[in-house]
Amino acid sequence: MINHHHLDLPSPPKLPKGGLRVTPLGGLGEIGRNMTVFEHQGKLLIVDCGVLFPEDNQPGINVILPDFSSIRHRLNDIVAIVLTHGHEDHIGGVPHLIKERKNIPVVGSKLTLAFVGAKFQEERLSPPVVEVVAGEKRSFGPFDLEFVAVNHSIPDGLAIAIRTEAGLVLHTGDFKMDQFPLDKRITDLGAFARLAEEGVDLFLTDSTNAEVPGFTTSEEDIRPAIDAVFRTSPRRIVVSSFASHVHRIQQVLDAAVKNDRKVAFVGRSMVRNMGIASDLGYLNVPKGLVVDLKTLEKLPDDKMVLVCTGSQGEPMAALSRMANREHIIEIGDGDTVLLASSLIPGNENAIYRVINGLIRWGANVVHKGNAKVHVSGHASAGELVYCYNIVKPKNVMPVHGEWRHLTANAELAVRTGVPEDRVIIAEDGVVVDLVNGRASIVGKVKADLVFVDGMSIGVASEEALSDRRMLAEDGAITILGILDTKTGLLAEPIEFFARGFAHDDEWIRGATKAIDDAMVAANQSKRVDGAALELLLTRTMNRWMQRKYRRTPVITSIVVDA
Ligand SMILES: [Zn+2]
Repeated sequence: MINHHHLDLPSPPKLPKGGLRVTPLGGLGEIGRNMTVFEHQGKLLIVDCGVLFPEDNQPGINVILPDFSSIRHRLNDIVAIVLTHGHEDHIGGVPHLIKERKNIPVVGSKLTLAFVGAKFQEERLSPPVVEVVAGEKRSFGPFDLEFVAVNHSIPDGLAIAIRTEAGLVLHTGDFKMDQFPLDKRITDLGAFARLAEEGVDLFLTDSTNAEVPGFTTSEEDIRPAIDAVFRTSPRRIVVSSFASHVHRIQQVLDAAVKNDRKVAFVGRSMVRNMGIASDLGYLNVPKGLVVDLKTLEKLPDDKMVLVCTGSQGEPMAALSRMANREHIIEIGDGDTVLLASSLIPGNENAIYRVINGLIRWGANVVHKGNAKVHVSGHASAGELVYCYNIVKPKNVMPVHGEWRHLTANAELAVRTGVPEDRVIIAEDGVVVDLVNGRASIVGKVKADLVFVDGMSIGVASEEALSDRRMLAEDGAITILGILDTKTGLLAEPIEFFARGFAHDDEWIRGATKAIDDAMVAANQSKRVDGAALELLLTRTMNRWMQRKYRRTPVITSIVVDA
């Protein structure tokens, strides 16, 4: 396989006339914040603009955005943002980009636009929106687009075919090939085959499940397990899932009807999204089935179903609060909690903490580890191979995945006969040009992690996060010194203020001595002013802490004149 690492790539040359440039700014080398920029004839087309959720080693971070810095000086060249589907890792960053240029047209299917529209409303943004349906063709600047139905774990997903002078590109978005989806809307392999006849020059395809052999199970196949939970649960049922998984929630609603239970949605995103989905006809809610939480609470336990978020162990979500008995619903003996969702890598500890908490209160917890209550939303290796054989792409660029997923997907392409040198493994920021029917890596642009901390961008940098990790590991010590400017000596003994580090006399005595020694040594060579003394105190303390305790607390020294 070619180009396995991209450490020394230069910035890209000028795009040759008639060529198409593809620059992934997120989602390649990671799962999340998907964003791809297409450039042709001086114009830019953006496919998806999502967020990535932080990990444990990124304390205080709400979400992580793609880095817009490589397109920031060209915002006026953007002809549209096209959205493949309504998941957060594909739409969550759109409001942030719209804030930079308020009138970029946003293109997507009805449900996708409704989900992103709710975000625009919250942020008081109103970009022009263009609703499209599968099968439709639309042009934006020099990009002629065609939208193709794909099946995924959210309704109304689209693959995007992009025609330019440089050739035909097919971007699958997230997809799978469930042949029995609840909404009967299957991935349009007929359209894939028709595009193949025309000749697909570059195929960008979902790598998330490329390592998983065989075929992704149908959504329909988990119905028996969900039914069993509803049939056998003696008391309350709490279901946790993603707030966008309309089909999964539909299965829960169907089971509730069958078992004569009422349902309440809990949590802002769940209430909002299910309201949107039922208003638009994507979720079938029989009259009287869904009630508010207050009404639900008055019902007998065996008539209740709560549907909430928090299946990934998010600390503020309803499920975590139930596990900690911080929620008005007090989980107890005989209650059943159904986690009808995936277990996203990195969230394992948080999820098991919640599961343990719930079991401790007496709940029966049903999850994908002990029952067949979840299927993936992504095509497995078998489906991907089918796609390669149908699409017969001239060049392939795996998208959506960490290195292991991208590589597994690339290997599948090669096994179906795509020449190795036509399979491009790129990561975020790597620039790929399609020129004369051939795709190749030509350079790299900046594609850093952009942290959103609370409400603001830029408050947290990599450096700030490193400080936060140090604070968490080793605490902080502030040193206060009062300087006698006449003598260059301390007017009073040094004072220490420690956080996350026990305030104990023994280390304070040792540290004071180390600082005194350092000051004597410094004074022998030259006079000490306030700034120099601050530096001396910090350095001495750092060295002493490291030697004595093998610790690196964040040290701040303040010296004031007497
Ligand atoms: Zn998705």
